Amino acid sequence: MVLTTKDCDYLVIGGGSGGLASARRASKLYGAKTIIVEAKRLGGTCVNVGCVPKKVTWHAASIRETLKDAKNYGFSLEETKSFDWQSFVAKRSALVKRLNTIHEEHLKEDEVEYLHGVASFKDSQTVEVTLEGSLTRVLVKAKHILIAVGGRPSIPGDVEGSELGITSDGFFELERQPRKVAIVGAGYIAVELAGMFNALGTETHMFIRHDRFLRTFDPMIQEQLMAEYQRHGIVVHKQSSQAKVEDIGSGWKRLHYKDQDGEAADDFDCILWAIGRTTELGRLSLDVTNVKLDGKSRIKTDKYQNTNIEHIKAIGDGCDRGFELTPVAIAAGRRLADRLFGGDAQIDAHLEYDSIPSVVFSHPEIGSIGLTEPAARKQYGDSNIKVYNTKFNSLYYSVFDDREDAVPCSYKLICAGQDQKVVGLHIIGPGSSEMLQGFGVAIKMGATKADFDRCVAIHPTNAEELVTLK
Ligand code: FAD
Ligand code: NDP
Repeated sequence: MVLTTKDCDYLVIGGGSGGLASARRASKLYGAKTIIVEAKRLGGTCVNVGCVPKKVTWHAASIRETLKDAKNYGFSLEETKSFDWQSFVAKRSALVKRLNTIHEEHLKEDEVEYLHGVASFKDSQTVEVTLEGSLTRVLVKAKHILIAVGGRPSIPGDVEGSELGITSDGFFELERQPRKVAIVGAGYIAVELAGMFNALGTETHMFIRHDRFLRTFDPMIQEQLMAEYQRHGIVVHKQSSQAKVEDIGSGWKRLHYKDQDGEAADDFDCILWAIGRTTELGRLSLDVTNVKLDGKSRIKTDKYQNTNIEHIKAIGDGCDRGFELTPVAIAAGRRLADRLFGGDAQIDAHLEYDSIPSVVFSHPEIGSIGLTEPAARKQYGDSNIKVYNTKFNSLYYSVFDDREDAVPCSYKLICAGQDQKVVGLHIIGPGSSEMLQGFGVAIKMGATKADFDRCVAIHPTNAEELVTLK
């Protein structure tokens, strides 16, 4: 075994969304001597098993929906069902590989030293990196250490045979399209993957613990998404729990479960757990540092991303700031690099964790910024809240032969106080994801209902409904 040592200003553990952004900023903008360590593939969850391959799959599913709609516009398409899963997956994997390479090139350009290996703390000052595919170990000492290790999907510990199921990581490795899938969970990943599977023609069952999906979202979103998923043939097992998974051969599994109708069992060729994620602390030996965790094993941080140990910081999915989103990890990472290396002018740099826009790529899409209606009522009191709602069908559906095929849009604006400041905006319907960013800017700037009303509508669009609410 070869042992080498290195010193630097900034050691970043984890080459995902947050780590890459922070390391590149520190080196390129401020000239900090920076080392980044990545155990698997550069780009982390987002690039390899998250946003990017998910979004292109979502596009595939959306194309299938458009193909189904095409007859209403005079096209005669004989075959809208065929989808070559294998060739699509090969293209998607090639895209991911390209992005891995691009990230490595960016590190070189910005003069960040990249160590491909596993980092683990020897003590709170020293990190040992075991380089991938070599007997070399590197001991790194740094002025500042950033933990940006992200998370991994959870699997239930109390369901016999749960290892026979896959997670979102396994979804991206599926070589053929499942015929019948069981998705357990009610969050972002469960609803996104269920929407895609269903649109692509897989028989889709969802198993949720309660009666609604996305329980942190506005009730309007929860109700409409449930109605749309059930209308489009997704079988939703409410108040469900799983007892056991059995391998019944030929790639099929039997799921024993309980739901609102009692105990039952059904067979699936794919069972997918989407029940949340756990911080990737496995190989970090964090215990030797005394860095504190919260009850969910997220690293405790203050608004500056400081942990309780002075020179150790944490960002992204692995910290306790409450948002597991790529742009949040990136923004927090950049602000942190600004604060640590940007001198006095950046001494207060930190990410504001409020009014963060978020989109769910369900079918149809969801967009959400700020407080839900129940949260706004609790925070401001009923008498200080005014809520504007609309529900409509987009012009796109106006020439459909069967108006029942239309996917409705529902929008809600929640305003608070005398000046009717917009404190919540929630939308569900086609086109919602691309629509949200601009409204995010307005709300971050403190827009009021009067500001929305003053903005001239763009016609004919879905978005215009948000500036013409009565
Ligand atoms: P990660 O990107 O997970 O990076 C952490 C890196 O650290 C990993 O590459 C890991 O290998 C490495 N690492 C861990 N331990 C060590 C160690 N000991 N030594 C060396 N390296 C280590 N967010 C969105 O904003 N939009 C979306 O549409 C979206 N879709 C998603 C879809 C899915 C299926 C999933 C799972 C997530 C999605 N997310 C989405 C969330 C987003 O991917 C994460 O919030 C984001 O990647 C978090 O970035 P991060 O830097 O905290 O961690
Ligand atoms: P989430 O935290 O969004 O949802 C997981 C849900 O699973 C919980 O809310 C819970 O819902 C349910 N659950 C938890 N434990 C169990 C259990 N034992 N059995 C059944 N259901 C259970 O996690 P995800 O894994 O969906 O996604 C992780 C994060 O990744 C998200 O929070 C999001 O921040 C990010 N992400 C972002 C996307 C985007 O921006 N478009 C897309 C995908 C992921 P309940 O309490 O109702 O049962």
